[in-house]
Amino acid sequence: MELSQLANLTVYTKDLGYVRYDDAKVGLLTHGLNYGTGCFEGIRGFWNAEERELYLLHLAPHYERITQSAKILDINLGMSVDEMVETTIELCVRNRFESDVYIRPLAYKAGQDVGVRLHGVPDAFAIVAIPFNRYIDSEDGLNVCTSSWRRVDDCSIPARGKITGAYVNSAFAKSEAQQNGFDEALMLSADGHVSEGSAENFFMIKRDALVTPDASQNILEGITRNSIIEIARDLLGLEVCERSIDRTEVYGCQEAFLCGSAAGVAPIVSLDRRAIGNGKIGPITQRIMAAYENAVRGRDPRYRSWITPTSSGRKVSAAG
Ligand code: PMP
Repeated sequence: MELSQLANLTVYTKDLGYVRYDDAKVGLLTHGLNYGTGCFEGIRGFWNAEERELYLLHLAPHYERITQSAKILDINLGMSVDEMVETTIELCVRNRFESDVYIRPLAYKAGQDVGVRLHGVPDAFAIVAIPFNRYIDSEDGLNVCTSSWRRVDDCSIPARGKITGAYVNSAFAKSEAQQNGFDEALMLSADGHVSEGSAENFFMIKRDALVTPDASQNILEGITRNSIIEIARDLLGLEVCERSIDRTEVYGCQEAFLCGSAAGVAPIVSLDRRAIGNGKIGPITQRIMAAYENAVRGRDPRYRSWITPTSSGRKVSAAG
């Protein structure tokens, strides 16, 4: 987003409440900025034009996850999951969004002294929400490479926490992939098993069943990943297996895709210049993409519990 557009946004900070983007400032010596000691979330909201409704996706699971990430980093959020959910709805109402949105809650070590550590440093919490279209252009499918960078290990920077500093690892992988002409990177764990994309979880389809790395493969335990497992099992009647995956198993699989809050369901059409299946977006992936899109836009009553409408907040705001 352009800086001039950002200036008009309302953001939330725990210290200041609802303020203009430009009025929420971070000092140069802030621990989180210097040492990467922060954690965040990426939440999507989808505009349903027929209903004129903005639906926010999986609010509570995202705030439950940031609570866990904060615990790993010894950060005190100072807000309950319910309070963060309510604040997010209010923030969207105040910004009067009529488009898809991306919401970025961020908690970080806010002390401004020199000395890397987690303990005894004050914490800060903020939420920024912006209009958002697409994160990666995956309409024709992604050409992916295996990264030469290995995924951070749980005993160095835990991948199950969404920790700001760990995204240096993702940035290495993403830039290497794109600068070599690929769309995305598939990262392996230190032991050589498939872990995940730079900011997405990985699935392959083998003998008509979904296979995805289990939680011990240094993955972020993705909320979209859980949604895909639910759709595959309950709606499409497919088998889902969580286990370790070898790199060359992927070369021979039927179909593969990445998924994440920002990326949605992003089909993979090649890995390391080898076609996945026939090199086109596969039929099972297409069914999953369609079911996911219907669910997140509020068009499938079976998945209403995933989404939170914001219009009741709009009416209260208009009346008040
Ligand atoms: N892995 C990483 C490293 C990510 O950054 C993300 C995006 N949050 C994901 C997986 C997907 O997680 P989610 O579906 O919860 O967005």
